[in-house]
Amino acid sequence: MIAEILCVGTELLLGDIVNTNAAYAARELAAIGINVYFQSVVGDNPSRLKQALSLALSRSDLVVMTGGLGPTYDDLTKETVAEAFSLPMELHQPSLNAITAYFNRTGRVMTHNNEKQAWMPKGARVFQNNYGTAPGLAVEQNGKRVVLLPGPPREMEPMFHEEVIPYLKSLSDTVLLSHVIHIFGMGESMVEDKLKSYMLSHLNPTVAPYAKEGEVQLRVTASAKDVEEAEQRIRPVVGEICDLLGDVVYGIDVGSLQNALVQKLLEKNRKIATAESCTAGLVSKRITEIAGSSQVFECGIVSYSNRIKAQVLGVSEQTLEQYTEVSEQTAREMARGVRRLSGADIGVSVTGIAGPGGGTPEKPVGLVYVCASCDGFEEVLELHLSRGRRNERENIRYLASSNALALAIRALEVL
Ligand code: ATP
Repeated sequence: MIAEILCVGTELLLGDIVNTNAAYAARELAAIGINVYFQSVVGDNPSRLKQALSLALSRSDLVVMTGGLGPTYDDLTKETVAEAFSLPMELHQPSLNAITAYFNRTGRVMTHNNEKQAWMPKGARVFQNNYGTAPGLAVEQNGKRVVLLPGPPREMEPMFHEEVIPYLKSLSDTVLLSHVIHIFGMGESMVEDKLKSYMLSHLNPTVAPYAKEGEVQLRVTASAKDVEEAEQRIRPVVGEICDLLGDVVYGIDVGSLQNALVQKLLEKNRKIATAESCTAGLVSKRITEIAGSSQVFECGIVSYSNRIKAQVLGVSEQTLEQYTEVSEQTAREMARGVRRLSGADIGVSVTGIAGPGGGTPEKPVGLVYVCASCDGFEEVLELHLSRGRRNERENIRYLASSNALALAIRALEVL
């Protein structure tokens, strides 16, 4: 099946908002083996919307549209699709009931035009919206399908995941199953080099790498007649790849470094605390993004000044004077200090130079020390994170935080 993503919204054309819906839909479709050949954006303009839809339908079997399902007069996506398929609009009573209930529940006044959201092209399959008012829908004619979803990502994403994916999967009699191997500490080209013969020789399951913000993910995907058979095909391949790559693999299907860390802490009933200088709370922010982190995250200290490193974390004046604040010794004492202060099982620290100023020939921009300290494990990493480009500050901080999370995962192995 060839798919196209068509996003509707003048704000998108003007660059006022980033088209995260297209990225999300593309990823989700790829994950279930649907090839996306085109992505386009069109403004809230009826005739151009019509043109864009007709072009999409001429070259794709499935068109996934987002936006323009709202209650106002310029929200025309549904009507345009109905016209393209020559379908009359009819009131979908369950949607009207759900919209009325939503307004009652949230204590807001329902205006007459909200009723418009319950009108559907005849025969449409309706996807309930549990996070807003506009239902989504799918229409099909002569093997061409259009899926329409609301614009706001907080509504579109769960609807896609919970309703559209099962709908699309039900159209095919084979199942497609993926597992993702998460890798940190080895670049994409090295991973590819090690697995080249694997990637070329395996067609079912396929092995596909994705590089993202200092990490590599390998998606291993099998198609089979049912989930068990797909699992049987995938499992040995995932095992072999993990053996081949060793401890740069930090988890399977774990989503992110921070999620892997929090899940491991929960599993082992351990607590963590952070002391951050150059990342100023980014490590603790990433940990606390994860639901359930309050059970494992004890505290985070942002110790920018040397006075706070010494007075709060107990880094010795002598260490700061002799080795400076960006040093292995300081990182070690920060991690130990925050662990002592908080009573957590693991202390993690980051100190470094994110730039653009502050570097010297001995201690250049991008030099970062990361430490994890717990009973039976203490390690400091000296990192050189600059690639000599402009505007690297955020990248250096992000990579430093990723290294801190990865090191904490390793520390947990011994606890
Ligand atoms: P509403 O019921 O809110 O009117 P809608 O389905 O009509 O929803 P739009 O009016 O097109 O959707 O967009 C509503 C908001 O959703 C936009 O202001 C924008 O913040 C967000 N949005 C829309 N399309 C996208 C997109 N492709 N990517 C990211 N955000 C989007």
